[in-house]
Amino acid sequence: MVPNDVIDRTTAEITDQLIRIRRTIHQHPELAFEETATADLVARALTDLGILQRTGVGRTGVVGLIQGAAPGRTVAVRADMDALPIQEDTGLPYASTAAGKMHACGHDAHTAILLGVAMVLARLRDRLAGQVKLIFQPAEETLAGAAAMIADGVLEEPSVDAVLGYHNWPLLETGAVGYHPGVSFASSDAFDVTVTGTSGHAAHPHLAVDAITAAAYFVTQLQTIVSREVAPVKPAVVTIGRISGGTARNVFPESVRLEGTVRTHDQVTRAAIEQAMRRMLEGLRTGMRTAYALDFRRGVPLLRNHSETIARVLTSARAIVGAERVVELPEGSMGSEDFAHFSERIPAAYLRLGSKIEGRPSMIHRVDFIPDEQVIPTGVRVVARAVLDLLQ
Ligand code: MN
Repeated sequence: MVPNDVIDRTTAEITDQLIRIRRTIHQHPELAFEETATADLVARALTDLGILQRTGVGRTGVVGLIQGAAPGRTVAVRADMDALPIQEDTGLPYASTAAGKMHACGHDAHTAILLGVAMVLARLRDRLAGQVKLIFQPAEETLAGAAAMIADGVLEEPSVDAVLGYHNWPLLETGAVGYHPGVSFASSDAFDVTVTGTSGHAAHPHLAVDAITAAAYFVTQLQTIVSREVAPVKPAVVTIGRISGGTARNVFPESVRLEGTVRTHDQVTRAAIEQAMRRMLEGLRTGMRTAYALDFRRGVPLLRNHSETIARVLTSARAIVGAERVVELPEGSMGSEDFAHFSERIPAAYLRLGSKIEGRPSMIHRVDFIPDEQVIPTGVRVVARAVLDLLQ
């Protein structure tokens, strides 16, 4: 059993270095699947620590493997590395040097935290039983990186027994750790609908089949899925974000195209929404004479903590930050996190790490987002403790 003060001492020694690493990454943000400089930085740091690694996993991902002195379980930790297509407006001396790109979600800090965990655990190698897999993931913002890494075998050789994920959270005070007891993030599916009528002159509607009016009915009727079909206690979102159709005021277009997204917190609701959508389009066909095509694509699954794993991780977190600073968050998000692909396959726990700067309210994905860098040492201590406990 490694005592907490060993973790704390090492973390204190490396915190300045980790903050420098975070600022370097912050200055050079890279978008989804373009994280080559970040991956190089990670790979060099792992090499310096004598940690085995695979690069190019899921295109630009890096996987490190710390081999303990004795055999045992394999625990994985995942950090995301990608930035967002946002023009930074923080005024920081280490602001982004890449026009239109910014680490506005704090993935720079996530990467620094996992490197810190690597530094702490590498020093403890002789006392470890089992393996620690360090997963540096690309393309979280596009929800594509986790699936790409899994397809490249990130969860195999050695196979993973438990996986830990985390995100900085600017609504939570720095030093605190948050979690959701139920579903943390929603499933996210995409749909494209084409409603097809018969084109014609606007003055002679009886000689055409009006796809625009039919599409308008569909958009309205779609609202009754959440309000009248899904139980009010079940979270669900059906949003159409794009409609296109028509070329002139005096022409009925041949077809109208609609694009949208569906978010849910459970599989039954997820399937029911797709079914209702088909039924409504079928109703449009018989009622309004339009043909349709529906392309419903399942994206990221919902993210739910594995109850035994999160319980153990929370015990670790309480031992580090104190029980009063480990807080149950009131509700899950309708946003999505592609860590869900890992949690669907492996017992998983997902933490929110407080990154609020007192007196400076902020939120992720904003042009002026700044997380408290003290989230880095807290994250290193909590995650390193949790990994050691999960290896037991
Ligand atoms: Mn994020």
